[in-house]
Amino acid sequence: MTSCPSFELSDEQLALRDTIREFAEGEIAPHAAEWDQTHTFPTETIRQLGELGAMGVGFPEAYGGLGAGAVAQAVVIEELARIDSSVAVTVGANVSLGGEPILLFGTEEQKQRWLVPLARGETLGAFASTEPGGGSDVRAATTVARRDGEDETGWVLDGTKAFTTNAGTDLSAFCIATARTGSNGGTALSTFIVPTGTPGYEPQKPYRKLGWHASDTRELVFAGCRVPDDALLGPLGKGARVFLTGLDGGRVGVAAMSVGLAQGALEQATAYAQVRVAFGAPIARQQAIHFKLADLKTQIAAARLLTYRSAALKEAGKPFTEEAAAAKLFASELAVRAAEENLQIHGGFGYIEESPVPRFYRDAKVLTIGEGTSEVLRYVIARQMGLTE
Ligand SMILES: Cc1cc2nc3c(=O)[nH]c(=O)nc-3n(C[C@H](O)[C@H](O)[C@H](O)COP(=O)(O)OP(=O)(O)OC[C@H]3O[C@@H](n4cnc5c(N)ncnc54)[C@H](O)[C@@H]3O)c2cc1C
Repeated sequence: MTSCPSFELSDEQLALRDTIREFAEGEIAPHAAEWDQTHTFPTETIRQLGELGAMGVGFPEAYGGLGAGAVAQAVVIEELARIDSSVAVTVGANVSLGGEPILLFGTEEQKQRWLVPLARGETLGAFASTEPGGGSDVRAATTVARRDGEDETGWVLDGTKAFTTNAGTDLSAFCIATARTGSNGGTALSTFIVPTGTPGYEPQKPYRKLGWHASDTRELVFAGCRVPDDALLGPLGKGARVFLTGLDGGRVGVAAMSVGLAQGALEQATAYAQVRVAFGAPIARQQAIHFKLADLKTQIAAARLLTYRSAALKEAGKPFTEEAAAAKLFASELAVRAAEENLQIHGGFGYIEESPVPRFYRDAKVLTIGEGTSEVLRYVIARQMGLTE
């Protein structure tokens, strides 16, 4: 007898989805416009989401999580992005960039110290790889960590990181940073966990961004920043592997954000098309409009399946590099189209900051950039196909 793959969420996953949906609609939606306009990081809401378990869904119970797996984590991020992408990226980056590398590469002591409070929703973590000189080429980092002092214990970091999410909030506890540790100008990278407040670790003012206004993104300066030996995360000289391994999980998160944003945009466009009358009938009756909505519905269903599949592979401990890249590539480009069609269907009102429509439009674009640009993802997929080195 052949078995049929299951594409349905379990009862537990559906219950979690409903809990997060209720919270997002009740506690986030009423404030999202104000946070966006005032560029306010919603500390209290993020804390409440932590109490609900949103940060620890995919982490093992032994480390403060719910042990519910990567699919459930994707569902949580999707539901948040359906309402507010700034909140979704705060959760997504915390989980994949802050927590995941520690789960995968941390010592038991590092997991207890940094992962447990993160998974419980008490603190936020960040990962700083990108530099002003470039992000796609991870190995080109110029931030340096060198041994210091006569006894050569500890490391001193010097350099500047760009575009770091979650490093400057009231909840931020640490930032994982890549730095060159190769001797004689070698390019070997290592990763270090730098606690917030370490002298010489200087988060700068938040950027003024096109979108994601209520999320925290900053440049970070490391100026003679001294950390002890036990700040090293993973093997010395293997920092690129630490970052790139974590990145696969991060791409599932961005794919989930993209599906959620596209779903929210479709719902807004559908509702408006049914009530906006032009030429004597709701515009939804026009084939030019309802074909757009039908296309989006179909493509969102496909993006969701790609996303859940890559999450399911991750959860099963199977390779998922190509699947995560494909899900993120397809879903993020779809999110940009969905946000644009939503605005187009709203006509002139879509251009006015009195509805979520322009916010969704501004929030969508970064999804094709962060955690691997569309160009880099096509390269990742081509490499998995054996077409390039
Ligand atoms: C809001 C926001 C939050 C972010 N959060 C974080 C974070 O928390 N931590 C972090 O480390 N980074 C973060 N980033 C950085 C993000 O990951 C980078 O912007 C991204 O990886 C691209 O790097 P870059 O901006 O330096 O562009 P570049 O690498 O300079 O690329 C510029 C352009 O060239 C293209 N390109 C580059 N190389 C190739 C190639 N070989 N072939 C074809 N095209 C190529 C790129 O696709 C892109 O279109 C964030 C960025 C933003 C905007």
